[in-house]
Amino acid sequence: MTAPTDLIWQSKKPATANWQQQLKTLVREPAQLFALLGLQAEDMPAHLAACQDFSLRVPTAFVDKMQPGDWNDPLLLQVLPQGAELLAQPGFIADPLQEQSNNPHPGLIHKYHGRVLLVVSGGCAINCRYCFRRHFPYEDNNPSRKEWQTALDYIAADSSISEVILSGGDPLVASDKQLAELIANIAAIPHVQTLRVHSRLPLVIPERISDEFVTLLTSSRLQTVFVIHCNHANELDSRVQQAMAKLKAAGVTLLNQSVLLAKVNDNSAALQALNEKLFAMGVLPYYLHVLDKVQGAAHFDVDESHAIALIESLRTKLPGYLVPKLVRELPQQASKTPIPAY
Ligand code: SF4
Repeated sequence: MTAPTDLIWQSKKPATANWQQQLKTLVREPAQLFALLGLQAEDMPAHLAACQDFSLRVPTAFVDKMQPGDWNDPLLLQVLPQGAELLAQPGFIADPLQEQSNNPHPGLIHKYHGRVLLVVSGGCAINCRYCFRRHFPYEDNNPSRKEWQTALDYIAADSSISEVILSGGDPLVASDKQLAELIANIAAIPHVQTLRVHSRLPLVIPERISDEFVTLLTSSRLQTVFVIHCNHANELDSRVQQAMAKLKAAGVTLLNQSVLLAKVNDNSAALQALNEKLFAMGVLPYYLHVLDKVQGAAHFDVDESHAIALIESLRTKLPGYLVPKLVRELPQQASKTPIPAY
């Protein structure tokens, strides 16, 4: 599919480095981020204090898509460490999905029937301030080679598992060599039919979707589904478009999930633009998640009645296939819970 050019922003800067180099040169200091955007911080100690709890990490390719001088830029707000994160809020806890109780082996989460999630990497290229895994003990879930085998043995021993989801952190922080070995081992388990990858890398370092990566992803017998994580239309520029085109041309099913975030995408125009632009790149909307109530993210919370009104508004503006499912993830539930529940 060719995207209409009026929908896709040309990247302000072409990629000058490969993805590994971009990963090594992340913006990690608030002062650096503010300098790049021409912003004067009035409360630097609060930004720095928030970083101690959950560090700042953002690739320059993502910063390039922000509007200089704008504290309310929807991409900046997703990565900006703020003093509000340090205020305890009722109902906001460290592990809102109780994932640690569905963690039979290091690096493996078995919560839903028929599918398991492998924590391929504890690292991410970007630290999203609303992340429900911001307190996840990745240090206990960064399996060694031997522990990978334990997780693979667990999958092989349960014939009800037909889908393996590579997650993290971000699984694409792992090297092509590691991913190729892991995918080959998964494909060797006869009852696994589908490989799903959840990643934000294509939005924040689009060059991660190299020709070599696409080949290794699509060379096994497994059906491949790639779920990107994009929250705002401004994340989708011509570099992302090229990454999506490569995956699409290789026959990968492309879906997007977003999180509904206050001041980022909690209005109908923003969500309409996001889903139209995704479609122009060959990506269909999958889920719109309401915020998981993780400690430190309360300032992103959107009232449920407003979330429902937004979806109803989208239904009047977009064809049904461009309206994402509004869902909440609840601990101990066998699937995501639709909103409103039925
Ligand atoms: S990329 Fe995903 S896992 Fe990583 S911080 Fe962002 S939301 Fe969390």
